[in-house]
Order: sequence, then C-alpha cells, then structure tokens
Amino acid sequence: MNVAKGVETIEITMNAMGNQSLIHPTLIWDEETVILVDAGMPSELPQIQKSMESLGISFSKLNKVILTHQDLDHISGLPQILKVADHKIEVLAHRDEAPYIQGDKPLVKLNPETMAKRLQSLPEEQREQMRKVFEASKQIKANVDKTITDGEVLPNCGGITVIHTPGHTPGHICLYLNQSKVLIAGDELNVIDGQLVGPKQEYSADVLEAKKSLKKLTLLDIEAIICYHGGVYRDNVNMRLLELAALSKTT
Ligand SMILES: [Zn+2]
Repeated sequence: MNVAKGVETIEITMNAMGNQSLIHPTLIWDEETVILVDAGMPSELPQIQKSMESLGISFSKLNKVILTHQDLDHISGLPQILKVADHKIEVLAHRDEAPYIQGDKPLVKLNPETMAKRLQSLPEEQREQMRKVFEASKQIKANVDKTITDGEVLPNCGGITVIHTPGHTPGHICLYLNQSKVLIAGDELNVIDGQLVGPKQEYSADVLEAKKSLKKLTLLDIEAIICYHGGVYRDNVNMRLLELAALSKTT
C-alpha cells in the first residue's frame, strides 16, 4: 500500500505456529537509496521481491535493511535476503539490539529461561513445535554493519530520524520519515480492528518501559503510522497518541 511518495508497505501473509496473520515490512526509496524496514520470515523473500518488482524497483537496488528489533518475525528473513543478493546490503539496528541479532546474546523472548516458562504453559501437543522454533532460532543471526542510536538522523530519503523506544525489546526503534511525516512504529504500536493500540503485556519484554516510550512519539508531528502488525493508521494520529500515552500512565 502506498503511504507517501517513496514509502510503501508490503503486505505479507505470515504463517507462525499454524496461525496466519498479516505483517507489513516497509520500503522507503529515492533515486540513490532503497531501504527495507524489517525482513519478515525466511520463506517470504519472494513476496518482498514481487512487491519491489511491481513498484519498478529492482532487488539489486536494495542497499539497506533497517531492523526495528530482534523478534523472529522481523529478522529471520534477513539471512536469506543477504544470501540471495549478489551485492552489498548494509544492515542497521539500534546499538542495544545488535548483540541479539548477531547471536552474541540469546534473543530476549527466546532465552532458555523464558522458553522453559513458555513451554510449561503450552498444551503438550504444541510443545514440540515450540521446541523446534526455539532450536531453529539459535541458528538465526546476521551481522549488523552499522549501529544507530536515539535522535540520530540518517541522511537517506529526505532524512530518517531514529527513535529509541525500549520495552517491546531493549533496543526497539521507531523511524520517523522527516519529509512525509510517516512514523514506522515497528511493534511499539499495533492496529487492531481499525484502532491504534499501545504495547501489550504478552508481547513486551518490559511493558512498563514500552508504555513509557510512547511519550517520545507524542513529541512528533505525524500524518500516518505504519504498524508491522495491523498496517497503516491515519485517523487523528497525534491526538490518538496523546490519548494512548495518557492512558498508559494509569493502566
Ligand atoms: Zn512483530
């Protein structure tokens, strides 16, 4: 879906543990640079390539991937992208997130301790499948070429401001596109049944921290928000963010 000039969400059907849902990586581009924000799952590369083709952007032009955070639905497609490309693609992530993506630390939501708890809470028939996901996750790693920090403005595509929004994971980031006033929210926000919602306990490494991070987003002038889960939200964005930030102080 086109969001602004040179900003497009790619809608991908994801299969995770037998559940189907839609995810929304974003493409940002201008004449010099093509950036993919978040990489989907390993089997999803053909869908990304197809979307790029339909926009008239050759896969060989993709020169950066920015990861909003370490969760598998955002990073596990990356090794495949790097393998298939016969050119250099620079990978960027927040400084605090890079060690997890590179495999120097176990993924926060899939570390042995968290996994043991999750396995216990699952019905017997799902445990084996989860164990396989856990084992496979240990193999997923990719080198981060450039670490980025809060407030940094990447000079590409009219300027991209990095906003560190910890909580969902320690180094989660949102990206603000200075020219189009579009916010790529990663998993800090979701759209559910057409409504913009804030961080949820069950998906957050630290939900209080994630709620606190909302405040930073209220300082921006935003015209549209892209949520990885839920897609594009345009309805009175700034007002809704103020509401969510106020709400998160009381709940
Ligand atoms: Zn996600």
